[in-house]
Amino acid sequence: MDLKDHIRRVPDFPKPGILFYDISTLLAHPDAWQETVRQLEAGVAPHKPDVLAGIESRGFLVAAPLALRLNLGFVMLRKPGKLPGPTVRHSYALEYGEDAIEMQEDAVTPGQRVVVLDDLLATGGTMRAATDLLHEQGAEVPSAACLIELSFLQGRDKMNVPVHSLMSFA
Ligand code: IMP
Repeated sequence: MDLKDHIRRVPDFPKPGILFYDISTLLAHPDAWQETVRQLEAGVAPHKPDVLAGIESRGFLVAAPLALRLNLGFVMLRKPGKLPGPTVRHSYALEYGEDAIEMQEDAVTPGQRVVVLDDLLATGGTMRAATDLLHEQGAEVPSAACLIELSFLQGRDKMNVPVHSLMSFA
């Protein structure tokens, strides 16, 4: 099964000139989604994570079923102001402006092996912010994984951990 056949490309979303890679069609296809989670497991399990971290919001859809499958806990990495209680934050630069990612202060413990998951790697800014935040908390990040990599944007080059992707669009 070619998982790429289940990704819909939507022109001019969210802005004119942007081609959006939409996983809704993959999520809606039970066999393709099962196969996706199986392939992710094969890529992530060898890194022996203690816990998985998913990036809001489509990263949650990727990390949660994998955490169940690997019998691991799952940590939410969220946009600022969404999580209750004490949180820690990492800010990062966007093309225009700045964004930040947060998690709860007690979500990981120093030395824990945390694999980060998201749906898609574009410029790599989001994924790198996630690994930076986890490193700042003393976690080990043996790898990051995503369903789709837009290889022409070279996001992988921005990363400081190995990245596993299931589909690459050039
Ligand atoms: P980056 O920070 O430039 O690598 O962008 C990656 C983040 O933006 C991820 O959290 C993705 O969910 C989201 N993203 C960027 N482009 C797309 C797309 O074409 N489809 C789905 N998500 C995207």
